[in-house]
Amino acid sequence: MYWRMAPCNRGVSGQRGQSHDDRRQMTRLPIMTATCACGAVELEAFGRPIASAVCYCDDCRKGADQIEALPGAGAVRDPDGGTAYILYRKDRIECSKGADLLRRYKLKETSITNRVVAACCNSALFMNFDRGPHWVSAYRARFAGDLPPLQARICTKSKPDGVVLPDDAPSYRGYPPGLLVKLLASRVAMALGR
Ligand SMILES: [Zn+2]
Ligand SMILES: [Zn+2]
Repeated sequence: MYWRMAPCNRGVSGQRGQSHDDRRQMTRLPIMTATCACGAVELEAFGRPIASAVCYCDDCRKGADQIEALPGAGAVRDPDGGTAYILYRKDRIECSKGADLLRRYKLKETSITNRVVAACCNSALFMNFDRGPHWVSAYRARFAGDLPPLQARICTKSKPDGVVLPDDAPSYRGYPPGLLVKLLASRVAMALGR
């Protein structure tokens, strides 16, 4: 993720090669905004997300426990125990406000996965990796506006006992092949600079 502060070059884009910028603008739409509960931190995500899913895996449950225990933190999970994410390529999401307030939490010291929280109000904002995977899983609950439709409920074999899942999206006990294909395709597109 590129932590650019204010989107300062946007105002001058019209002065450069117009058609290139137009094409670039197209792939950057829609722009989605996520904010922490108090509004001090803001993320901007550009273009179509890779996927939109709710995860029930043990790590997401432990990560939610960890964040929900922070002072003043709100719920990270949905009432059924799932955590809802919107997945973006890491070159398509950035912190547009309050980057100095971001804090990383790890399940273990050796984990490559970070759950990133806004320190001002302990809102969970996104999950990323120290190395490896090319995407960022942003917490869906933090976004406003026209959210992409939910595509899948995943890792449901770890859902809490007694929870009956709604049938608003297909459920998978593990990671569905379709999601893995989408992740791979987005990696290829990113490598090709598309
Ligand atoms: Zn805040
Ligand atoms: Zn998970």
